[in-house]
Amino acid sequence: MWPFAKKKVREAALTKPKPCATPLPLAAVPLPAEIKRQAVREAISALGLLKPEAEDTIVGFLADEMETHPRQTLTEYRKGGEQLSKEEKKTLGLRSNAFLSRRAYDDLTEAGLEVPLKAHETVLLRSTFTFQRYRSLQSIKASGLVGDKVFKGMRYDVLNMSCPVCGPLDGVTITLDEATIFPFEGCTCHTANWGYRPSVDFLAAWNN
Ligand SMILES: [Zn+2]
Repeated sequence: MWPFAKKKVREAALTKPKPCATPLPLAAVPLPAEIKRQAVREAISALGLLKPEAEDTIVGFLADEMETHPRQTLTEYRKGGEQLSKEEKKTLGLRSNAFLSRRAYDDLTEAGLEVPLKAHETVLLRSTFTFQRYRSLQSIKASGLVGDKVFKGMRYDVLNMSCPVCGPLDGVTITLDEATIFPFEGCTCHTANWGYRPSVDFLAAWNN
């Protein structure tokens, strides 16, 4: 309808990574439980290792705190319940003493069957990092830092520097409103392990 506005948006998308998920309307401020579900849905869809039906299972494993490593949680999941037969494990390229329960096996897509012992863990890690970004932004919003002149915004803290999308963002400061939680479009990271740190300029307090 407005060709000029349309053009502007397209240009902005080229220079600035935009999150995969559709931004939520301001009126609908999601609850943490809803954020968890969206994080898991994004991870299942982006990685393609688990079937969409596994969403509830992974949401159930997504903890509030990063206390137990997803590997531990999911090893227990693979250990629990009826196990695949030795022949079935062999077909998947697994040792006979590897744990793979039938329910965990049923969650796997074709791509997931290539990495049957890692698929759940990768999905849960990616979801966990998204949820932790949400938590860190929430805690900054709730802190006294916002509105203080020493607070300059949020600084990207990127782990995977080889990613063409995340890597260049490391150390870049953006405003709190600009900070998003979902992995970026075009990001090549499996787990999208990046976070935010508050950017604080203590000298600003002295520049009166
Ligand atoms: Zn990336």
